[in-house]
Amino acid sequence: MTGNESEPARRVQLLGLRPGMARSAVAGAVAAAGEPAYRTDQVMEWMYVRRARSFDVMTNVPLPLRERMDEEFSLRPADRSFEGRSTDGTIKHLWRLADGEEVESVLIPTPGRITLCLSSQVGCALGCRFCATGDFGFRRQLDTGEIVGQFRDADRIARTAYERPIGNLVYMGMGEPLANQDAVFDSLEIIHAGFGLGARRITVSTVGLIPGILALAELPQPFKLAVSLHAPNHELRLSLVPIERRYPIDDLFAAIDEYQGRKGRRVTFEYTLIDGVNDAEDTARELVGLLGRRLVFVNLIPWNPIPSRDWKASPASAVRRFLSVLTDAGVPAAIRTPRGQDIAAACGQLRLERGLSGAAASGVAPNPDPE
Ligand code: SAH
Ligand code: SF4
Repeated sequence: MTGNESEPARRVQLLGLRPGMARSAVAGAVAAAGEPAYRTDQVMEWMYVRRARSFDVMTNVPLPLRERMDEEFSLRPADRSFEGRSTDGTIKHLWRLADGEEVESVLIPTPGRITLCLSSQVGCALGCRFCATGDFGFRRQLDTGEIVGQFRDADRIARTAYERPIGNLVYMGMGEPLANQDAVFDSLEIIHAGFGLGARRITVSTVGLIPGILALAELPQPFKLAVSLHAPNHELRLSLVPIERRYPIDDLFAAIDEYQGRKGRRVTFEYTLIDGVNDAEDTARELVGLLGRRLVFVNLIPWNPIPSRDWKASPASAVRRFLSVLTDAGVPAAIRTPRGQDIAAACGQLRLERGLSGAAASGVAPNPDPE
């Protein structure tokens, strides 16, 4: 006896399978239960359209088949362990994974649409100097089901909280998506082809991992690319983003040009503005020189201070000046207002701070997951 023969085999995480594979897996269970083939359609609809989190709720499916599927498959890669609601409508969640690790996602309402920002890794190995997730370090990769689960569960919550579904998805939470390429690419396919979110509504944000950018360019669907740039030249970028040593800015732009050549799509650049570090007018002009002839959009993000650095966010006047250098030169750009700051939900603050003050202020207690 090894002591664990009686343990049930690990259930297959159905949310982590590409739609065709999930369908075959369900069809196998349907056939084994001696049920007609249309049962497979019913289960797929429960999973992708009605966002079911368990087989129990699939009440038009016979109970023995539900029980069989429950033994073989799981629809719950994570459970909600915390919810914080900001006074500006932003809702941050922590998701507890099967091994006890936690990741965050943030729902951000803007006029006309709801955006979900989700995590692709527990922590991040790339150590950008201004980023709280970088400080946190790398714990592990998320698997496909754990990434898709954030989308599925946040979408259920969005439909109740805002009475509308998620309309935009950005991979800008914890982690570097292109350092977890296989799971992230599978999740893109599942959220797009399974859950039906348009590829143009999904943005993968990267600090500049060239092989991943080239792989994204090869995908048939027009998923959008955002590149976190933060500096217009090698020296300055290297002082902020260590991966610049491995993938220097010139090579990075060759990869971006390749992506654009294939997709013909606008690339978004994220540029975090830090007082006296990368926010000078000359630096803005250098950025114009770099981006000038390309099809781009620049998001300027006033830096959210983190405890380990004694930098300051650029003052509003410097942010406006930086913006006008870009826009005067015809480079489309906007200032991205930080959201959910009272619950530590803003960009780069995703480091498992529970944001208790904000949650308490808006009267939201951690609550268990609904089915
Ligand atoms: N690893 C990916 C995606 C996650 S980070 C990437 O780097 O693109 C999401 C965005 O938040 C990036 O643009 C990142 O540069 C930005 N960011 C990180 N820390 C920040 C901070 N403290 N203040 C403002 N933006 C920050
Ligand atoms: Fe990782 Fe992105 Fe943070 Fe850099 S900015 S440490 S790549 S999460």
